[in-house]
Order: sequence, then structure tokens, then C-alpha cells
Amino acid sequence: MAELKLSESRDLTRIERIGAHSHIRGLGLDSSLEPRSVSEGMVGQTTARKAAGVILHMIKDGKIAGRAVLIAGQPGTGKTAIAMGMAKSLGLETPFAMLAGSELFSLEMSKTEALMQAFRKAIGVRIKEETEVIEGEVVEVQIDRPAVAGAASKTGKLTLKTTEMETVYDLGAKMIEALGKEKVHCGDVIAIDKASGKITKLGRSFARSRDYDAMGPQVKFVQCPDGELQKRKEVVHCVTLHEIDVINSRTQGFLALFTGDTGEIRAEVREQIDTKVAEWREEGKAEIVPGVLFIDEVHMLDIECFSFLNRALENEMAPILVVATNRGITTIRGTNYKSPHGIPIDFLDRLLIISTQPYTADEIRKILDIRCQEEDIEMSEGAKLLLTKTGVETSLRYAIHLITAAALACQKRKGKVVEPDDITRVYNLFLDVKRSTQYLMEYQHQFMF
Ligand code: ATP
Repeated sequence: MAELKLSESRDLTRIERIGAHSHIRGLGLDSSLEPRSVSEGMVGQTTARKAAGVILHMIKDGKIAGRAVLIAGQPGTGKTAIAMGMAKSLGLETPFAMLAGSELFSLEMSKTEALMQAFRKAIGVRIKEETEVIEGEVVEVQIDRPAVAGAASKTGKLTLKTTEMETVYDLGAKMIEALGKEKVHCGDVIAIDKASGKITKLGRSFARSRDYDAMGPQVKFVQCPDGELQKRKEVVHCVTLHEIDVINSRTQGFLALFTGDTGEIRAEVREQIDTKVAEWREEGKAEIVPGVLFIDEVHMLDIECFSFLNRALENEMAPILVVATNRGITTIRGTNYKSPHGIPIDFLDRLLIISTQPYTADEIRKILDIRCQEEDIEMSEGAKLLLTKTGVETSLRYAIHLITAAALACQKRKGKVVEPDDITRVYNLFLDVKRSTQYLMEYQHQFMF
């Protein structure tokens, strides 16, 4: 296998946008795990947040292996928000992957492949690489390249333009250009003394291995402005196992990460990647960062998916699995048996169960306030009262949707502050579930059966 290509995906994990949960920054607990009433974007749901905090402690103490978390509660009671809060509390680099049970049956891949991809999206790899950063502006040096086995020493003049953060890899490329490729080995580290222009070959850098030779000659070198070697710097990249899988399994590489068109990934590719990552871990170059995998609508999974999950949880790299459902006793898909939440008993047995409760008007109001801030929308007191009332009568999620729509209505009339009229306008434009059902019942004779 070609050397794992990692750099291409470095920035992908940092893309963020204002999504439904972008205001959630943690669980909002104090140091003794007591939930603050409004903190880190979280409002209310105190028992569930506290329980989630205890689970985080178990995770940090390494006591969660083989277990998973079930968040049970009515729609829109913050199940996803709590799972996301858990991931955020575990650290900025902790990956969070989300999947709805029903998605497994609509993707162009097998259910277990989709589950496997979701698991690997929730496993981070922190890769440490040592590199040297050259500081300085324009450096002009006479290069007397030391003789390497069988080749005469070579003298050349090389002008290097360096910017502060230019890495030795970029400069190495310039040096190759100036000196030609002959007998230059990938991973060679060369020190240049700025005063005398003397070059010393320092050997090979730790991050370079024979695998890199496949990439062709590349010189790595460090400049010594005062006769002293520049400090080595440790650079850390965080990627997910899934990103490494995708980049290494297709010719179009990282583009598939944007399109999501990853297709099925061959088992051999994953095996090779796991072996490589295990090697890196042994050499102290990489660490595994178990993330959080959130599976919503878990009652939609069938018996095969549950056996996959049972097995996957035993893996030492397994992420923290959080599943959620709003169902009571229902049939387990793929069987004729009923069970609580449609979950087989052996899987239920592994679960720590947290339940969420419906919100009070005051809590809805506070969540709406936070969302207005997050979306940078100014709303009058009257509009907020009306929106809260709407949230209580319909659902929190419907009220949150109306914020964006009402802001557009306000923009259209060239207003700056969202007023009750804007809320009424969009309330009449978009039906909530109750009104939509009522409409269907009234006009059912006009619909096809
Ligand atoms: P479903 O069962 O339909 O999947 P859910 O229980 O996962 O719903 P969420 O999607 O988490 O509900 O909540 C709906 C919206 O309300 C989201 O935008 C979420 O971020 C926000 N929200 C829910 N609970 C809280 C909370 N306690 N604090 C702040 N925001 C919340």
C-alpha cells in the first residue's frame, strides 16, 4: 500500500457551520457534575445531563468498555443535543458521528458497511510528527553537499526564500530543484550554518521511514542561523480512521470525503490501515481518540445490525456508542418479537439508560434565546413571547425552525428586529405537525390511498 496520505484531510475535521446543534458546546456541568441551569448552550434537562456527566467520568476512567448509552425520550427533548454535549466535553478533537437508524436502509451499501463507516468516523487518530520550522527571510548559502556513497561532493549556489512558518518540506523541494535529484535521499536532514555556509548531514529524521522513499527524493534540512540547530517542533494532526480509509481506498481520494460518495471500502484496505496505525501507536507516533457515535431512531435497526453493534463494542478502539429512541415496547426489526424500544435483550443489557423529559415554557424560551444569538437574529420581546407560546403548543423544534424563517420575513420588509407579525406570517406559511395532521384528516378524501 502506498504511504497513507494524511495531510490532505487535515483541515476537513475543522469545518463547522451553523447547524441545529451548533450552540451546544458541552454539557454545562460544574466540577462536581452538577448541571448549571444554562451553560455551554444547554438548558434544563438536568437529570439527563447529570447522568451523561457521570458517564463521561466512567469514560475518562476507562470503565465504559463493552457498554453503550441509551437516551430515551420524546421527539425534540434534546437527545441529540446531549450526545453532542458529551462529545464536546471530551475535548475539541473528539470526533462526533451521527447516523439515523433509517439511513442504514437507504444507502447504496450494505447495512453493516454503513455501520462500520459510522464507527470509523467516530474514531480519531492523533498523529504526532516532528518537524522543524525555519525562521528567517532571504538566506543565501553556498552549498557543499557532503559526498554520499559513491558520489562526488557537489557545490551549488542556492537562494532560499523562507517565510516564518515554511516547513522544511517546502524548502527541501526548492533545494532539490537547485541541486538536481542525483543521490539525494528522501528524509535526509541537512543543517546549514548561515555564517560559514557549511552543510552537515545530520542523518534521517524520525518521521521519515523507508515508505517515504516511494515518494521520490526529498531533502529535509534545517538551517542554523547562529551555528545552532533550530528547535524541532512537534506537529499534531487529528484525523478519523474513516478519513484515512477513504483517502487510501480510491483514486479521487479526499474528494470523496466532500461528496460522501465513498462506496464500500474493502476489508483489506481497513486491515492495512489498522496495522499501520497499530505500528504508529507502538512507536509512540499516534494515539487513538475514541469519539462518540450517535445512532438516532435505534428502533429502526434490525437484528443483524444489533449483532454487529454487540461485536463492535468489544473492539478496543470502539467509540462511545450513544443510541436514542422515542419508541416504547415495539417489534425488533427482522424478528416477530417485541421488546422495550425494539432493542434485543442482550443489547439492552449493555445499555446505561438516560431519559429526557418534555421542556417547560421557561426552558423553551431560554433555548429560543440561545438560538437567536447563535443565528445572530434580533427579536423583540413580543415576538419571543409569541414564539415560546408556539413552542409550547407545537414543538420546540418547530419553534426553532420559525426563527430563521421569521428573520427572512423581517429582512423582506427591510426590518431589523423580528416582530410578532413576522412570526405570525411564517406560522401561517408553514404547518406544524398538529395542523398538518388536521389538514390531512379534513381533506383525506382528496388524497390517494
Ligand atoms: P428526535 O427524537 O426528534 O431526534 P431529539 O430528542 O434528538 O429529537 P434534539 O434534536 O436534540 O432533540 O433537539 C431539538 C433542538 O433543540 C435542537 O436544535 C437542539 O440543539 C435543541 N435543544 C434540545 N434540548 C436542548 C437543551 N437542553 N439545551 C439547548 N438546546 C436544546
